[in-house]
Amino acid sequence: MTDRQPLVAANWKMNGARASVAALLGGLRQGLLENGAEVLVCPAFIHIPLAAELLAGSSIGLGAQTLAEYGNGAYTGEISAAMLNDYGCRYVIIGHSERRHILGETDATVARKFRQAQEHGLQVILCLGERLEEREAGITEQVLSEQLDAVINVAGTDCFHGAVIAYEPVWAIGTGRTATPEQAQAAHSFIRLQVARHDDCVAAALRIVYGGSVKADNAAALFAMADVDGGLIGGASLNIDDFLAICRVAR
Ligand code: PEP
Repeated sequence: MTDRQPLVAANWKMNGARASVAALLGGLRQGLLENGAEVLVCPAFIHIPLAAELLAGSSIGLGAQTLAEYGNGAYTGEISAAMLNDYGCRYVIIGHSERRHILGETDATVARKFRQAQEHGLQVILCLGERLEEREAGITEQVLSEQLDAVINVAGTDCFHGAVIAYEPVWAIGTGRTATPEQAQAAHSFIRLQVARHDDCVAAALRIVYGGSVKADNAAALFAMADVDGGLIGGASLNIDDFLAICRVAR
């Protein structure tokens, strides 16, 4: 038994327009019953002010999909932690595999972004996950511990206090191929044990959510696993009925 509150986070990636963002948030506000699970949306930066306005007074949280690794200053095109705070973002996703593998973020970049977010009071959703070739080579645990250690070395051993980890096997993201509940449980429990090597209490309270082709019809089996504390949802979060169904499962 655990008292970790389930979390369902929508990662809208680089999708949407003002009209579709408004429609999704309207549907979410209308359809989401208070259900014990925490729900949050992470729109593209440009939609954050609109989302903040439309979510005012609701319990639905707001997060960003990344942030700059530096504080305010001469970094053309970047968005800082302070700016996210200013618009009411409570969360920020860091280390998503698309940023690691398409946009070239290294473990070191991810760690600096993590520290930057925490220094500004943002709750981090740190994404970790192995690629297919790494799973097939039997080095999933090695990859996960390297990704964790990179953050701990820069942000300190107590850095996961108040943070969320998203286990997202790269081969399951946007592919329709989901990890089995047993594969997810094994990875989540490994991650929790790694954190417990530094701090038992932080590890026990740490929410570890699963991401990778979560749909309304596979969410229940995944969320039923002992160390799976909800989900980070990509594709299915863009459809209000599917996303609401996943949120209902999480309660
Ligand atoms: C994601 O991008 O974080 C994700 C989990 O995507 P999808 O649900 O589409 O696999």
